[in-house]
Amino acid sequence: MAFPQRSDTQLERLTRQIGQELLDQGRQQRAGLFSSRFWSDQLMTWAMRDPAFKIQLFRFVDVFPMLHSSRQVHDYLVDYLNQPGVTLPGWMQLGLKAGGLAKGVFSATIANRISALAGNFIAGTDARSALPKLRGLWKAGIAFSVDLLGEACVSDEEARAYQRRYLDLIETLPGEAASWPPAAVLEADHLGPVPRTNVSIKLSSLSPRTDAIDFAGSLARLQEALRPVLEAARDRGVLVNFDMEQHAAKDLTLELFERCCEAVDFPAGLALQAYLRSGEDDARRIIAWAKRTGRQVTIRLVKGAYWDYEVIHAERMGWTVPVWTRKRDTDACFERMTDLLVSAVPRRPGEGGTRLAVGSHNVRSIAHSLAVVERAGLPPSALEVQMLYGMADRLTAAVLDRRLRLRQYVPVGAMIPGMAYLVRRLLENTSNQSWLRAGFFDSASDEELLASPHEPAGAAAPRPVDAPERHQLSPAVEGLGDGRPFVNAPHHDFSSRPVREHFAAAIRRVVVPAVTARFDAAALEEAIGRSAVALPGWRDRDVLERSRILVAAAALLRRRRDELAGIMIREAGKTWREADADVCEAIDFCEYYARTAVALFRPRRLGRFVGELDEAWCQPRGVAGVISPWNFPLAICTGMAAAALVTGNTALVKPSAETPAIALAMCESLWESGVPGEVLQFVPGPGSVVGTGLVRDPRVALIAFTGSKEVGLGILRAATETPQGQGFVKKVVCEMGGKNAIIVDESADLDEAVLAVRQSAFGYSGQKCSACSRAIVVAGVFEVFLRRLVESTRSLVIGDPVDPAADVGPVISDAAARKILDYVEIGKGEGRLELACEVPAGLADKVGKPYVAPHVFSAIEPHHRLAQEEIFGPVLSVMRAADFDEALRWANQSSYKLTGGVFSRRPSHLEKARREFRVGSLYLNRGITGALVGRQPFGGFRLSGTGTQAGGPEYLLHFVEPRACCENTMRHGFAPGLE
Ligand code: NAD
Repeated sequence: MAFPQRSDTQLERLTRQIGQELLDQGRQQRAGLFSSRFWSDQLMTWAMRDPAFKIQLFRFVDVFPMLHSSRQVHDYLVDYLNQPGVTLPGWMQLGLKAGGLAKGVFSATIANRISALAGNFIAGTDARSALPKLRGLWKAGIAFSVDLLGEACVSDEEARAYQRRYLDLIETLPGEAASWPPAAVLEADHLGPVPRTNVSIKLSSLSPRTDAIDFAGSLARLQEALRPVLEAARDRGVLVNFDMEQHAAKDLTLELFERCCEAVDFPAGLALQAYLRSGEDDARRIIAWAKRTGRQVTIRLVKGAYWDYEVIHAERMGWTVPVWTRKRDTDACFERMTDLLVSAVPRRPGEGGTRLAVGSHNVRSIAHSLAVVERAGLPPSALEVQMLYGMADRLTAAVLDRRLRLRQYVPVGAMIPGMAYLVRRLLENTSNQSWLRAGFFDSASDEELLASPHEPAGAAAPRPVDAPERHQLSPAVEGLGDGRPFVNAPHHDFSSRPVREHFAAAIRRVVVPAVTARFDAAALEEAIGRSAVALPGWRDRDVLERSRILVAAAALLRRRRDELAGIMIREAGKTWREADADVCEAIDFCEYYARTAVALFRPRRLGRFVGELDEAWCQPRGVAGVISPWNFPLAICTGMAAAALVTGNTALVKPSAETPAIALAMCESLWESGVPGEVLQFVPGPGSVVGTGLVRDPRVALIAFTGSKEVGLGILRAATETPQGQGFVKKVVCEMGGKNAIIVDESADLDEAVLAVRQSAFGYSGQKCSACSRAIVVAGVFEVFLRRLVESTRSLVIGDPVDPAADVGPVISDAAARKILDYVEIGKGEGRLELACEVPAGLADKVGKPYVAPHVFSAIEPHHRLAQEEIFGPVLSVMRAADFDEALRWANQSSYKLTGGVFSRRPSHLEKARREFRVGSLYLNRGITGALVGRQPFGGFRLSGTGTQAGGPEYLLHFVEPRACCENTMRHGFAPGLE
């Protein structure tokens, strides 16, 4: 087929002509249709005028279904709308101030408005209740694709429920639809019949463990879940469309789609997204596959619905943004993909290729696809136009006028999950970039609306306007000579096949050499002596030199990252992501401290007095003992050692007896990068010998310790003694345990809260000082939360950490396992055991480490040992509090003050938590583990530590001593002036 080029002016002319006709036809539609109602709605008009109001209103809409009384509705409205910067329409100001009866009336008005808005976009709570609307659409000449709205699938139980709902749709809808009158345009294209019933499937709903890190496993699970659905679709002639969700699942979805089509001969459809930079490659891949296999499948070409998420997520992770960042590029990609897909439309029945459906509300995009179809000599029936139910009424009418096949994507579902969908639609409709808003509400010129996205920006630049470039780096930290700002080392994106393969190969190759050296008291004595001798030379080096060595070490760790992760997987039993994050954190510590150190040593001028020069700077403390734990065996060890070294102290590193190999690898990296052997010494050995030796030695000026409360308190005690010959007071930087709580209130997004609590409690088998060991849930959502959490936890894979499928690996030692199991027994006496996951038989022997599976308890009271003591294993207590205030009180009832979290969508609760939830590191609406250097300083107070925060701007102050100098610069009555 002759393939139209972009310079093809004829095609461009045809596109504009069709576009103009569609615009004219659309504008002839009179008011009274939905879209006109939407645009004239007072709330929406105000939202479009005031962005601050819009954010608060949409946030309120998001939480609205969780509110059960008009009083709650009123309270939340007041909370949301009385925010600084929000201006309100007069009637709302009155409503918010109202009391008594008027207050109820106001709340009810708002509630009705929101329900009515939802009703415009969502056809019913299930397929049956949506039937009248589906029939109505059909009569108006519009086909449908039903989409099930639902909560995120967090457990196998929920996945099975989704599977049943899909089967139900496929089994009931065709019978109903068969009774509807014939509609020639909707029922056939040039290749043959088009199924009346069309169902869209979200793959993430069919398995709680859809994660590309375990590509093969995810594929197998999804294929198994889909098989009965697809067989039913084949038997009943239902088209099943695989929706495309987040980019992370894209490759998995493509692969799954192909495999499913090869296994079951069902009428198949797949969505492809033009906002992805990979859009054309994705289209080429599916076309080649369809031609190779002789399969006919329908491609629904869309722009993509997760743009904000993709940009924000990629920026947060430090990954390349997978989507086009300018709207126009997406539109252009859409047209290029249309070209490709139209060229692959089969000419004859039975020929392999792709049928095309375009899902867009952009007249230019639709007109272009119609023009390309016409140019290709295909009949108009070769193209299906798809739109979202409840949007674009004028465009719908214009498309119907042309007797095109039109299908609406019709969501059905309950109010709670429906809200996320509703908010997305509201955002879309009210966005500056909304084509519908520009085309039919803001009345942009036709020339602008129909302009080619391929043209360079300029006078004819198309409205809607381009998205801003949002790619930002983390804020710059103190420059390191060369002025490069600090950025976190990005974690691996395991959805990328090359990343997975490289990682797997690296950890396969790793051998963990046994560290046999053990320092005894005498060897330690000597080592400390060497350290003391090396001190002056290292101390007096320029801080920039020391910083550059750290930066070089970071580069080396980066080069070795997969190998180092492999050592931790084998030595400490970390799973893939945990091990990778540990290496990244180590790299970050080197880079971050290298930058923050420089300012400490540069004399700062204080005061501005003529004749007086006041300056302050710092000096190192001396010989430092670094005593580290096994649970972040690289990150914490590197963090403490790097902090000591960059500030000019010499360091003796004593790793945990459980994880010496990774600590040795760290020391080797620092030596290789330029830290002299006497300045950094590796002193493995038992805590009772080497640890105590370091703490008591009168030549050691500083102890940097991270570990348990018992050992930490012992060190603090010992360090206060000042033996003969010790000419200083020992400084101890001491980070200890935690007993961390996450509060979940009635407004929380439970989809997120369940997964975050699960991850915070059972990630690395709960062996993190930051782990969640208490989930304090308010009564209103307690039962639902507990059930979902238990089922979700049951779905975790307990496995060999070498295998990417493993969510939970072993615990560190037999002694640790015994201690954790003792607490399980205590828990059985104090509360109710809701779940004890099972360890697969033979796993511990195979891995060579002990396992304790996740346990969940309920009915635990604040005074119970399970609510008070650090367990350091996968044991979670879910506690029921009467209300938010009680939850906050309980959360604070611990002498540990390390991390804490709150899940709430109520502004005043978040504010109160900020003020009153007294922990070192507080996290709102996210998990409580995984602090990032430079962004979330980490460390606690009271019995969690001496109030230092690693990875924060003040950390290095604990490794230095302050000095100041005042010079009288006046000589015989004159002095240099101030510059
Ligand atoms: P641990 O206290 O048993 O050991 C920590 C280090 O101290 C090890 O190197 C150990 O050999 C050494 N040591 C043991 N006895 C000693 C002694 N008498 N004198 C000097 N040193 C001695 O802790 P662990 O089991 O390795 O780690 C788990 C603990 O660490 C948990 O309590 C956890 O909460 C805590 N932790 C805290 C943080 C934090 O940042 N607050 C981070 C990680 C771990």
